[in-house]
Amino acid sequence: MAEDDTLDPTEFGEADAPPVAEKPYKIIFEANKCIGAGRCAEVSDNWSMDIETGLATPATYFFGEADLEHNVAAAEACPAKKDDGVIHVIDRETGEEIAPDPHGDGTVSVDW
Ligand code: SF4
Repeated sequence: MAEDDTLDPTEFGEADAPPVAEKPYKIIFEANKCIGAGRCAEVSDNWSMDIETGLATPATYFFGEADLEHNVAAAEACPAKKDDGVIHVIDRETGEEIAPDPHGDGTVSVDW
């Protein structure tokens, strides 16, 4: 956790997380900013639309190399937040955002 009281997005979900060696990547999902466009579900098996809420939901938040590409595709396809996207793929070792990385420098582009 960060030393002050602000929530560090890279720490999100780490308390119950599988070991980094097994699942080196994770999703941070800004569900409250999902606009239900469904692009993520078209490009990634990890994403589906919840019929009740109309919002996207990931099957898993933690994954390995084999599932990186399609989750990155989902993050890049997401049109929410003026195309910046609300699906964030994070490298758990470095804490950097792999995708969509709108700043181009690995900083986590989560607004909360
Ligand atoms: S592509 Fe983005 S806005 Fe559309 S359903 Fe998926 S997460 Fe939500």
